Amino acid sequence: MQPDDLSNQLKRRAQDLGFQHCGICPAVAPPGLSRLDAWLEAGYAGQMHYLSDRRHAYDHPRHVLDGVRSIVMVAMHYSSEPSNAPVAGQGRIARYAWGAVDYHDLIRGRLHQLADFLRELAPSSLTRGVVDTAPLAERELAQIAGLGWIGKNTLLISKSAGSYFFLAALLTDQTLAYDNPHAANHCGTCTACLDSCPTDAFPQPYVLDATRCISYLTIELQETIPLDLRHGMGDWLFGCDVCQDVCPWNRDAPCSAETDFAPCEDKNPMELAELLELDEQQFRARFRHTPLWRAHRRGLLRNAAIVLGNQRATEALPALVTGLQDEEPLVRGASAWAIGQLKHPAGEKALRVRLSLEADSQVIDEINSALRGG
Ligand code: SF4
Ligand code: SF4
Repeated sequence: MQPDDLSNQLKRRAQDLGFQHCGICPAVAPPGLSRLDAWLEAGYAGQMHYLSDRRHAYDHPRHVLDGVRSIVMVAMHYSSEPSNAPVAGQGRIARYAWGAVDYHDLIRGRLHQLADFLRELAPSSLTRGVVDTAPLAERELAQIAGLGWIGKNTLLISKSAGSYFFLAALLTDQTLAYDNPHAANHCGTCTACLDSCPTDAFPQPYVLDATRCISYLTIELQETIPLDLRHGMGDWLFGCDVCQDVCPWNRDAPCSAETDFAPCEDKNPMELAELLELDEQQFRARFRHTPLWRAHRRGLLRNAAIVLGNQRATEALPALVTGLQDEEPLVRGASAWAIGQLKHPAGEKALRVRLSLEADSQVIDEINSALRGG
């Protein structure tokens, strides 16, 4: 089959599989690797050591699939109607995680189906599907495949779809017909994303300091959240959508038709006090097959405590006192900070009792700081 025919059939199949956008590019070294080096050098990746550990693999897609010639880049919408604003005692979750399933599982299955289809047309094809799972510069390759441009908020943006979509790739050794790169940048003079980031995570346009980004802090970081960034987290329990929500290209962003991405009642927004009651087994039962699993129990409970502290809701005190007894120092420390924010006599008493029992030096520091009103 000719590359043109093969490509057209693949694009139609991708559409049928729920990928609303599909572009194809040759397997080339992505541009901008020197920017990646500078970004890593600046320490903006924080604890995401897997990026620097596999840095050389980003040089070329052949490190992901030996013999690769073409990359089929696909995008799947995930957005839904905006959630209700959280009230005190509730936390926000980033849109991509509102659904009932982990998107990796769903998309991986669809990529397998796309690869099977390619093998029906070209039986000897080598393929590999990638959804966040391999060292591939997805955004840069998606731009080369014509899907959009990389905005000042560092995300891929499409004129027709905004940025609320998952990107994935099917690599193959087949020669296909290639789309034109999306050469234009449509950010213009807009700076809405840069101006509205609650934690000032953009040192300059097109550069994200992940160590200040709420998505990183609430999902990737498995340590104490730096004191100066806690208030900026506001209501965000898991992830953050601010720099996408303000982007004018998302004003008419399409909603997802996937039922698995439809917002679950209990995530949109999420009750926080009950999170602080979950033991490891209950946490697993509730979140194992959802994106929230990535934060781990200790990370999510830490986040819940910080959001409750930011809301200064005294009704949350019993839940925070539970958090203050948690087996994880990370949760006890965040709960101590949050109780300090409530400035309530019963909270102060609970902190003093805990201080008399506490052995972890970081938690002791958090309690002392909370008692000083820090
Ligand atoms: S996701 Fe939130 S915290 Fe991160 S850069 Fe965007 S606005 Fe800032
Ligand atoms: S908010 Fe404005 S500057 Fe930021 S990505 Fe969107 S268009 Fe570009």
